[in-house]
Amino acid sequence: MTTTQDRVESLRDQLVAWRRHLHRNPEVGFHEHDTADYIEAELRQMPGLTVTRPTATSVLAVLKGGKPGRTLLLRADIDALPIEEENTFEFRSQRPGAMHACGHDGHTAILLGVARLLSENPEEVPGEVRMIFQHAEEIGPGGAEELVMETGLMDGVDVVTGLHLNSQLPAGLVVVKPGAFMAAPDTVHITVKGKGGHGAHPEQTVDPIAVGAQVVTNLQHVVSRHVAALDALVVSITYFQSGTTHNVIPDTAVLMGTVRTFDPELRQRAPELIERVVKGVTEAHGAGYDFRYELGYRPLINTDWVAAQLKEIALETVGEEHYQDAQPTMGGEDFSAYLEKAPGAYFNVGSGSDEADSRWPHHHPRFTIDEESLVTGARMLHAAALRLTTPE
Ligand SMILES: [Zn+2]
Ligand SMILES: [Zn+2]
Repeated sequence: MTTTQDRVESLRDQLVAWRRHLHRNPEVGFHEHDTADYIEAELRQMPGLTVTRPTATSVLAVLKGGKPGRTLLLRADIDALPIEEENTFEFRSQRPGAMHACGHDGHTAILLGVARLLSENPEEVPGEVRMIFQHAEEIGPGGAEELVMETGLMDGVDVVTGLHLNSQLPAGLVVVKPGAFMAAPDTVHITVKGKGGHGAHPEQTVDPIAVGAQVVTNLQHVVSRHVAALDALVVSITYFQSGTTHNVIPDTAVLMGTVRTFDPELRQRAPELIERVVKGVTEAHGAGYDFRYELGYRPLINTDWVAAQLKEIALETVGEEHYQDAQPTMGGEDFSAYLEKAPGAYFNVGSGSDEADSRWPHHHPRFTIDEESLVTGARMLHAAALRLTTPE
């Protein structure tokens, strides 16, 4: 066992204690006041860190290393979700209507652990490590965007990394992928404008429900007939609202959906492809439409060399039997905002196990993590901090 591993091992109980405190006291995006106060107080006990609050509910700790090197940004997101927790363990949420159901309590504990380890041995750290405890990952346009655009957080940053726990992977498994890793989650809003009337006389109306149904089925042609099979595109209409009762044809139907892409060019083309279908179908039936397209987080594209280094670090730190190349996912992440400004890579650490009953999906009221993943995450991120700050 390397010294890094010994040192993380000695932090095991502390990692669990931090995580459980945070789990008990969840706060949703932009309301993480107690969370940020807690993180700040913990960081202030660690020598050698400069601790500030870039925004009201985010915390930044900066460690200047003892020798020349790169400036690295490590990121953990700290926000919870508006979910009523259904777990019954002793450290379940004490706050009605809020829950750490995505693992951000774990991310925060892991980064606190890394801050502690780095602060204990600053002379071994090259360059500079900035540790950002980021607010509001779950709420678009996301806390990352605010930090990147409105604070100097990324000024002079050479490389960035961070991790997400993943309940769908076995606890302790590390997965990394170069290139496209997570999709851009954009949103489409469509209103089909028909002409209401009596349900017995559809010929006197323009039925927005019938037209809306055509829009939904025709949109699938965008995917199957206008985009090459290997260019990943998902169009899901997830909301269809119209009508009030059984014998009245309504005036309008409101549709919403999510559009997921990896490729920036395809992402740019998608609104036009979709609107063309909406326009064609509504016109063919004498209906009108409103169309609104909202861009979500950017696609998360990992920088190849950083992903390659993380893979090497994983092979050294957790070993071949706990490493896999990652598959791309259609989920979105505001970590992509940092990657607009500097090279970097985002990776996953598995947190699912039967023993911890932690295979529930993210955002589920029973979600939890196998706390062994805290140790794996801290090992990875600590090793990454030392490696990625080391100049070529
Ligand atoms: Zn989430
Ligand atoms: Zn998350």
